[in-house]
This record gives sequence, C-alpha cells and structure tokens, in this order.
Amino acid sequence: METPESRRYNSQADYIKEKYGVRLQKLVVDAGFTCPNRDGSKARGGCTFCDNNAFHPNYSTPDKSITQQLDEGIEFHRGRYSRAGGYLAYFQPYSNTYAPLEILKQRYEEALRHPEVKGLVIGTRPDCVDEAKLDYLQHLAQDHIIMVEYGIESCYDATLEHINRRHSYAEAQQAVGQTVARGLHTGAHFILGLPGETRKMMLDAADKINALPLSSVKFHQLQIIKGTKMEEEYALHPERFEKFALAEYIDFFIDILERLRPDLVIERFAGEVPPRFVNSTPWGLVRNTELLRMLEKRLCERETFQGRLYNAKN
Ligand code: SF4
Repeated sequence: METPESRRYNSQADYIKEKYGVRLQKLVVDAGFTCPNRDGSKARGGCTFCDNNAFHPNYSTPDKSITQQLDEGIEFHRGRYSRAGGYLAYFQPYSNTYAPLEILKQRYEEALRHPEVKGLVIGTRPDCVDEAKLDYLQHLAQDHIIMVEYGIESCYDATLEHINRRHSYAEAQQAVGQTVARGLHTGAHFILGLPGETRKMMLDAADKINALPLSSVKFHQLQIIKGTKMEEEYALHPERFEKFALAEYIDFFIDILERLRPDLVIERFAGEVPPRFVNSTPWGLVRNTELLRMLEKRLCERETFQGRLYNAKN
C-alpha cells in the first residue's frame, strides 16, 4: 500500500507499478555506439564531465552480445531484486540513437527478442534523433514499452557551451517536442551543480523544465570524475562550482521539487558513482535507497510535496 510519504512526489517506481502492474528492472546494455562529441563529428574528448566507464555495471560491456549482457544482467539482479516482474533493456552508455537506422533496428530488436524484456529505455543526445528514427520508435511502441531519455544536463546555453556539450537548449526543446508528438514516453536528465550555475539559476530552471512536455525527469548532483576535464577545471577554479553537503542537497532538491509540475515523474534525484571513479566522496558511501528514505523524511518534516509552488507560479 502506498505510504503518505511516497505520495509527496511522483516516484518512477510507483509510476511503473501503476501503469504496468509490475516492477520493471532496468538492465544496462552497451550496444557499442559512440557519440558525436567523441568521434570528431562535433568534437573530440566529449563533455567535460564525462567518463562512461563510471556508469557501467560489470555485466554490460560491448564485447558481449546484447543477449549475453541481458542474460548476465538478469542473473546479477535476480538475487538482489526478486520482485522484478520483467526487465527493460537500458541502452545507456554514449548516444544510443547515433548510428544508421538499420543498425539501430538490429540492436533494439535483439534486445526485444529476449523473452524477459518488456521494452527499451534509450538514452541519447537531443541532436542524435531524426524523423525516421523517431517514426521507427513510435512503430516499436505499438507492441513494447519504449522510453526515450535525453541528456539535456542544463537549461542554459552558456553552461552547455562551457561543458562542451555541443548542442543547444533549443535543440533539446525541439527533440523533446518531436518525441512527445509521437506519443513516446520522453524523459530527460539534468545535472545540478555544473560550473557557473548559481543556486538561483538551478531553481529558475524548474520553470524551463516544466515548459518541456516531458513525462519524467532525472537529476544527479555533479560528481567530478577522475581524469576528466572537469576535474582539471575544479582544481583550478573551485569557486565556479556550487557544492552541496548531503542534507543541504536534499533541502535544495525539495526546493526544486516544490516548483516542478505535479505530474512529472521523478526518476532519480541523486546518484552515486562508484568511489574509485570520483575525485572525492563528500557524502561518504550512501546508497540510493538511503537517499530516497532521507528525501521522504525531509518532505514530511517540511510538510511539503512536489508541485506545492507550481500553481502559484503559473
Ligand atoms: S556525456 Fe554523452 S554526449 Fe557527452 S561525451 Fe559523454 S557520451 Fe558523449
């Protein structure tokens, strides 16, 4: 049964359970794609924060077939999450629509042939979709769960330029619009704490996010990955970065949550990269379940909820 706490915001877990009747576990798949920010078509070296290795579970490496990754992922999760009623193949690393359509079809359809896979979550950049690819995803969505997840990261062009995203916010708006127009579940990822962004800018971004016709959003606190350009920038200019202690971040995220549309599904509000990849772990080792528990507790203490300030502002 739902607890009062869980109704204080739209959690992804509740949304999936309500919509599909079961708990669906995501399995990361590395389909061997790259991204235009790494292969030289837009830039080399990538976004200044990026090291995809930091986000890879061990079972998902591109030397294995997609089927093998899914089998190993199911085995990995089975012991931990026996309640999963099915799986979603999560094409996460790099840009998973950045290939000719025929290649995308092979990769996606291999995943969908797996008997325990109910659908796909496709992570990509806003500048890596076109009408033909989106039409194909719309076609797939007739028989499968299809979710598209755009890395937008910031609503500010100055930030996007600074972190070398090599796409604009307008391109993100356009991609989201084209995807939603096809009835596809459309999500987006944002990072809180990018260099040059003040707390006010991050709070104000809630209005911009509300204006995107998204179904779901995912936030991460900025974590500085070892060996990235951002690590160099942080060493030279730490003053450019807003830093949050854990309790402070939770309160700040609640400030954002109060401003977000009440119907937006909150897929994540923070996350931890394995400690070996990051240049510091200011929060210590805190698991996602603990973060969620802290968020819910603080929402209760503040007697607030998602969208509390939304109507007042719109
Ligand atoms: S974050 Fe995504 S778009 Fe940026 S370099 Fe990494 S894979 Fe490419």
